Amino acid sequence: MKKILLLGASGSIGTQTVDIIRSHPEELQLVGASVGKNREYLESLLQTFSLEYVYCIDTDLELESRYPNTRFYFGSDGLNRIVKEESYDLLVNALVGFAGFKPTLLAINEGKNIALANKETLVAGGDIIMKAVKEKGVDLYPIDSEHSAIFQCLQGHEKKDVRRLIITGSGGSFRDLKREELADVTLKDALKHPVWSMGAKITIDSATMMNKGFEVMEAHHLFDIDYDHIDVILHKQSIVHSMVEYEDGSTIAQLGAPDMHLAIKYALLYPRHKADEKTSRLDWDMLTSLDFKKMDYKRYPLVKLAKDVGKYGGNFGAILIGANDEAVSLFLHERIKFCEIESYIFRTLEAARFVKDPEPEEIIRANQWAIEYVDSLWANS
Ligand code: NDP
Ligand code: MG
Repeated sequence: MKKILLLGASGSIGTQTVDIIRSHPEELQLVGASVGKNREYLESLLQTFSLEYVYCIDTDLELESRYPNTRFYFGSDGLNRIVKEESYDLLVNALVGFAGFKPTLLAINEGKNIALANKETLVAGGDIIMKAVKEKGVDLYPIDSEHSAIFQCLQGHEKKDVRRLIITGSGGSFRDLKREELADVTLKDALKHPVWSMGAKITIDSATMMNKGFEVMEAHHLFDIDYDHIDVILHKQSIVHSMVEYEDGSTIAQLGAPDMHLAIKYALLYPRHKADEKTSRLDWDMLTSLDFKKMDYKRYPLVKLAKDVGKYGGNFGAILIGANDEAVSLFLHERIKFCEIESYIFRTLEAARFVKDPEPEEIIRANQWAIEYVDSLWANS
């Protein structure tokens, strides 16, 4: 029985992870969970599972008093305490944004295995995280569908035979618009992803294609492949989730319906490919073709930027995450226009001070600096 601590249980990945855990009671046991503000969802989990411990941001003594057998954590340090002090076998990190970084690092340092959806962790501090993974000898399973695909395509093969990784991207909500048509797009339009149903922040990251840039950086860290051997290709259908090209010319792809349950389940039940009531299958009688298109880095400059930031390394990933988290938050609150997300990110990186080999505290500082810099750009606009 694998004991699971799920952070971000009330989100898009979190609720799908709960589906998977519920479908495999013979192997998976939810022992702890966190939400942010969604108290109702936390209560539904407390009613369904016998949770040993839980977290929510705001102190709720009334809820705590009704579940005397569960330990409650609240406040800004609660997630860090839970990952360090509690007992579990696998941390599933489905938090959104930079909030995911420190709990992941602390859990690795405790020797825990990680299933990681929170890509911001690797983009902000990938070198630190991967070093800790090696030192502690823990397993890190990717949940992001592209990385789950690459992970699957690498099984049974030699890393030295890998020629390049090919990450597919759907193109996001505005994939049929030219750059000049983006000036007046609305939040409502941006939140309508053509293929995937996801949380608000990553849906905006997909529309700007920052998400694809993050995925290139994530792939670099997870699979230890240099940036010149990671390519992006546009694939509207999101059926081919990514590919690995080998030296002998063979390309191995992983295909599946655009449904995150599959990637989450592989991370939780690795190396098994098991069926359950959430399994969705491709209908090969209906699927007559697969479409691909060359990546256009001028149309999506944030993908190129992410590659450059990744090559610089140091604290720039943390600055990119801080700038993007804050700019997207401003856009979600309808304080800036869609195109300003991109310009705020570029301006923040231009103003940033480079630190070559940052410690975790420097990563946190750089991230905070970027948030404040974006806020100052907005305040002076
Ligand atoms: P959601 O916004 O749907 O969920 C985020 C979760 O994190 C919620 O449970 C939320 O709590 C919690 N949370 C947010 N901020 C805090 C905080 N400061 N402290 C504690 N908890 C917090 O996000 P997604 O599920 O869409 O995405 C999660 C991660 O997975 C992201 O990094 C995303 O990029 C990545 N990812 C997502 C995919 C998807 O299909 N959704 C696909 C691939 C990767 P509450 O709602 O209760 O406030
Ligand atoms: Mg993805």
